[in-house]
Amino acid sequence: MANRNPKEEKTYVMIKPDGVKKGLIGEIIKRFEQRDLKIVALEMFQPTHAEIDNHYPKDEAWITRLGHKTLATYEKYGFDPMEDFGTTDPAKLGPEIRKWLVDYMLSAPLVKMVVEGTHAVDMVRKIAGPTMPYLADMGTIRGDFSNDSPAVANAEKRAVANILHASETPEEAQHEIEHWFGKTPTHSYKRHGE
Ligand code: ADP
Repeated sequence: MANRNPKEEKTYVMIKPDGVKKGLIGEIIKRFEQRDLKIVALEMFQPTHAEIDNHYPKDEAWITRLGHKTLATYEKYGFDPMEDFGTTDPAKLGPEIRKWLVDYMLSAPLVKMVVEGTHAVDMVRKIAGPTMPYLADMGTIRGDFSNDSPAVANAEKRAVANILHASETPEEAQHEIEHWFGKTPTHSYKRHGE
């Protein structure tokens, strides 16, 4: 069960290949630490295909949701999904996007970390900004360091490069922390003034 004390909430963050290649490791950690969040586990690593494949959900609902997002982009910009994918079915488009995502995540070493603190899951998502960098506000990591969009990414048949991954819910965080770090990965310490 996820920790009920909001001050001890933990979330899982992974700096994606574009974040590592843009030299943003320090900047990202700084932004969490300056908001009083604690880094309680940290490692750079090269993931295996199986690890990344098992990180992203495999259920039909999640995969179809990825397909819907792509269709929405195509509609917004007047592109024809039939031309690029030979289908307009989100359930068939989803697996294609998922494949792009796995390829992208394997394209460089990643940095994984566990971040702890008050409402860590929501705080980290707020600091990261929304999924699509071109829509992310200035002041968020994605808004400050990327302008990628699905219109560009999908035309280039690749996933949207958005610098980092962060868990969406405490339950997802717990699952991802166990997946990437095992059962007892984290360290415990008090920050100055705590
Ligand atoms: P988040 O990472 O913000 O939780 P999602 O779970 O919706 O976002 O998507 C997972 C990842 O898939 C995104 O971070 C992004 O890299 C990629 N992605 C999402 N939607 C698209 C899309 N329409 N086209 C290409 N890549 C996408």
